[in-house]
Amino acid sequence: MNYERQPYRRCGRSGLLLPAVSLGLWHNFGGGKPLDGQRAIIRKALDLGITHFDIADRYGPPLGAAESAFGQIFRADLRGLRDEIVVTTKGSNPMWDGPYGKGNSRKHLLATLDRSLERLGLGFVDIFYLHRDDPETPLEEQAATLDHMVRTGRALYAGVSNFSPERTAGIAALMRSLGTPLLVHQPPYSLLNRGIERSLLGVLEEEGVGCVVYSPLAQGLLTDRYLDGIPEDSRAAEGRFLTADKVTPEVLAFVRALGELAAARGQSVAQLALAWALRDPRVTSVLVGASSPEQLEANVAAVDRLGFTGDELAAVDRAAKE
Ligand code: NDP
Repeated sequence: MNYERQPYRRCGRSGLLLPAVSLGLWHNFGGGKPLDGQRAIIRKALDLGITHFDIADRYGPPLGAAESAFGQIFRADLRGLRDEIVVTTKGSNPMWDGPYGKGNSRKHLLATLDRSLERLGLGFVDIFYLHRDDPETPLEEQAATLDHMVRTGRALYAGVSNFSPERTAGIAALMRSLGTPLLVHQPPYSLLNRGIERSLLGVLEEEGVGCVVYSPLAQGLLTDRYLDGIPEDSRAAEGRFLTADKVTPEVLAFVRALGELAAARGQSVAQLALAWALRDPRVTSVLVGASSPEQLEANVAAVDRLGFTGDELAAVDRAAKE
């Protein structure tokens, strides 16, 4: 582990520090991809000071494959490092048939976390997230289940993902009263998706909750990946979660404009996009995906130039409006 490579930022008003750039295992850790490639990405992550690995019960395919892959890599390479890494998982989305296979009931969540721990080969995860809100389960039951997970040692901390600002404030208040403060929220955030600026970030600051943002590169759109067409090995070519129709002339024009601003800062578009997301101190960490160790290395280099001048930020905003 190379702790010199990047800064560690405090997650809300908690005691936990997370690296500025963290690694997510949504893609590239399932789908029958060779374990050696996945191992190489994880090893590179350690070289880059990435202590934080974000997973979910569903990541694959098939469901659970990313957790199983991480478990295998952990047993082979990381066993001595359990106290140097933060491993997260999530539950809520459909995992098995029937009324207890999905949602945020206590019945489903405790079962899905226990199955995750088995696949990971770990006694506990560092953070368990509600992957999304479940309006049909009382918020009190959702909060009490998170509290129970922490009190029984299955998770050290609890978080939510994709919750609205109002429901986030609601569950944060409940968790505080239970004595297990909400650690973190995980929303999407990028130069192509700035919704959290409207009110979620304000709620998180007020509640002292950290913010780990996902898809900061808009799944690869905010890189040079698509400037000359759609490469065969890209996520847009795969077409499961990013479809070719998202690679629009407007997006490409925006990326080209960002490219000029990035070049003036000595950065790539991807590095500028990550530094931009981290410009706000309320954002604890950007959660990137990588299909190769090289991509990950290039992305972590964003931390070499994090600050922006007012003029640079204004130029980014102008490019976004064009
Ligand atoms: P990104 O926006 O970082 O997209 C990652 C993809 O962009 C890579 O797989 C790669 O695509 C491409 N890419 C990355 N770096 C470069 C580069 N330097 N140059 C060119 N292309 C690059 O994040 P993800 O969408 O992957 O999300 C990150 C993590 O966030 C997930 O793994 C997951 O942990 C979490 N997440 C959580 C969600 C939630 O609901 N809580 C939802 C979605 C994500 P390619 O394969 O084409 O090379």
